[in-house]
Amino acid sequence: MTKIGLEIHCQLTKLESKLFCTCKANYREFEPNTNICPICMGLPGSLPRLNQKAVEKATMIAMALNCNTPEKIAFFRKNYFYPDLPKNFQITQLNVYGDTTVGGTGTLMVGEKKIRITRIQLEEDPGRLIYEGSSEKNQITLVDYNRAGTPLVEIVTEPDFENPKEVREFLNILSDLLENLDVSDPSLEGAMRADANVSIEGGNKVEIKNIGSFHDLEKAVHFEITRQQSLHSRDIPIIQETRHWDDKRKITVSSRSKEEDLDYRYFLEGDIPWIKINEETKEKLKTEMPESISSKKQRYITKYNIPTQVAEVLSSDKFYSNLFENAHTKENAKEVANIITTDLMGLVDTREKRADSKLKPSHLKEIADSIQSGKITRNSAKNALYEIVKMGGSLSDIITKLDLGNITTESELSKIIELTISEEPLAVEQAKSNPQTINFLVGKVMQKTKGKADPKLTLDLLKKMI
Ligand SMILES: [Zn+2]
Repeated sequence: MTKIGLEIHCQLTKLESKLFCTCKANYREFEPNTNICPICMGLPGSLPRLNQKAVEKATMIAMALNCNTPEKIAFFRKNYFYPDLPKNFQITQLNVYGDTTVGGTGTLMVGEKKIRITRIQLEEDPGRLIYEGSSEKNQITLVDYNRAGTPLVEIVTEPDFENPKEVREFLNILSDLLENLDVSDPSLEGAMRADANVSIEGGNKVEIKNIGSFHDLEKAVHFEITRQQSLHSRDIPIIQETRHWDDKRKITVSSRSKEEDLDYRYFLEGDIPWIKINEETKEKLKTEMPESISSKKQRYITKYNIPTQVAEVLSSDKFYSNLFENAHTKENAKEVANIITTDLMGLVDTREKRADSKLKPSHLKEIADSIQSGKITRNSAKNALYEIVKMGGSLSDIITKLDLGNITTESELSKIIELTISEEPLAVEQAKSNPQTINFLVGKVMQKTKGKADPKLTLDLLKKMI
């Protein structure tokens, strides 16, 4: 049986400052090496000061993943030399004196399958190495320490996955969960990274490191399973090793360095005391936690009678659920949900489009109300929505500007139907012998009215008139 385990690194991008100093956690907007200070550079005489909010957010993640949270947490130094690590050690967590990482033994459900979480630890991110140069020969490596010391949560799972698809589903659910908790923005470059352990029946465990995106993680796991199966079928032993993901060639390659835990010479970080997290604090954090995705979904289904699939899409995406929460009333909830999941999704499917969108919850409410009162058709609503997302403005102005108002009077609609009947004699004959083909004529009327006619009224009148 194939066994896959994950180590996911998630940046706490919603925090103001780094894990042990007051430099900005959002390092992305700075010129290289300007978001640094003596603490995150590890200069002699500097002392780390733990960011309380980071501990709270990490504890929230642990609670959301059903983990045990210990009474006291401790930090350790993980020693290694690498250009991206200015202190020559990383401050991280480890369970050697009992459970002292922010979370232990949790679970996350992926459909019917339970994925066990081994532990969750809080640590600092190293700096970034940037490779430049066209070929390997003239390549240079630049170091940017702006990221060094930013808060990172590592989520380690048991080897409970059996195929790349389960891995992908888990990562989707996890990234929705973290976004919903308001601890991280997974869409930011580098905000979520992962390593994977892969082994097949009868083979040793291989660790894949250096996978920069979730998309590549699935590919890397898939490649590694195929590679191991191919070795196995030729009776070549699979050696236990660390491999790196080469994202240009899309393969895993054996890595020259291979560290064991012992090589890291872990020891307690003496500059940070053990931190007590008492029950009172945990209770407070629980009350501050946003409603979970599964609870939201259930509420949408039971309270508003929204179909399961629609409720699922709506609840799992924070952008959509925020819009829904602020736009719906008891009467229009289903309509608002419908507009978001059928018409809006295609218009705001990237981070950039969402940032540029001029749509406000009040617009959505107005559009839903206007559909329900018969002021505009669903089709016109779609056109209005497109315009509002692009330009903003008021719905009534857009209805006038684009001439989207419904054709509500029977006499006006009858005239258009009469014209259609005279233009389409063949279709009329067909509709008489085969009533199902009448939809063709409904479509023609819709075209003529630019979608402003009520489809039901059109159908009723057509039936009467042919
Ligand atoms: Zn700093």
